[in-house]
Amino acid sequence: MDIGIFSINLKNNFAALLKSINIVKFRCIHCGLCCRLGGPRLTTFDIKILENTGYDSKLFLNPLKETKKTYKGKKAMQGILKSKLNGECIFLKRNPNSEKYFCSIYEHRPILCRLYPFDWELIKTENEHIIILLKLLSSCLGINVKNGEPVDALFLRKYLADSINKLFRITNLT
Ligand code: SF4
Ligand code: SF4
Repeated sequence: MDIGIFSINLKNNFAALLKSINIVKFRCIHCGLCCRLGGPRLTTFDIKILENTGYDSKLFLNPLKETKKTYKGKKAMQGILKSKLNGECIFLKRNPNSEKYFCSIYEHRPILCRLYPFDWELIKTENEHIIILLKLLSSCLGINVKNGEPVDALFLRKYLADSINKLFRITNLT
């Protein structure tokens, strides 16, 4: 599902909504559905962050074969987060007092985790401005929950622009 067309400024993360396609709200309800399917692909940046935090890459990283290292057609990914025997991401934890799940490396989580359940498509670039089409992975259970935050330019700036900018830099997508 496409949500809207946004302009992001690479220098200052300024995001503006150029055209609204669907009005959507989102708030994570910690159902764990996404992370129970396994961990995401990792960029070199993600791996460094986890290593600097004290994690040994031998314990969290499954290297990818050369042919699987691309992201949106560009070389970007180095590996995939390991999974537990039941298939869920090794960093997923469940609160024993509730049905809720949480990420044990939340502050250091990989870029693709930060973007979930959103995806985007590059439409064009103008100087420092990137024009993107923001998309939604509609299997997420936090979409359009009652207390969700509207997915607008402020939302994009607060939660997504920084990660999208990082991917642009890592992958030279622009
Ligand atoms: S599927 Fe959506 S609501 Fe559930 S944990 Fe993942 S991001 Fe949160
Ligand atoms: S790193 Fe955290 S957010 Fe990402 S899949 Fe694992 S548990 Fe989920």
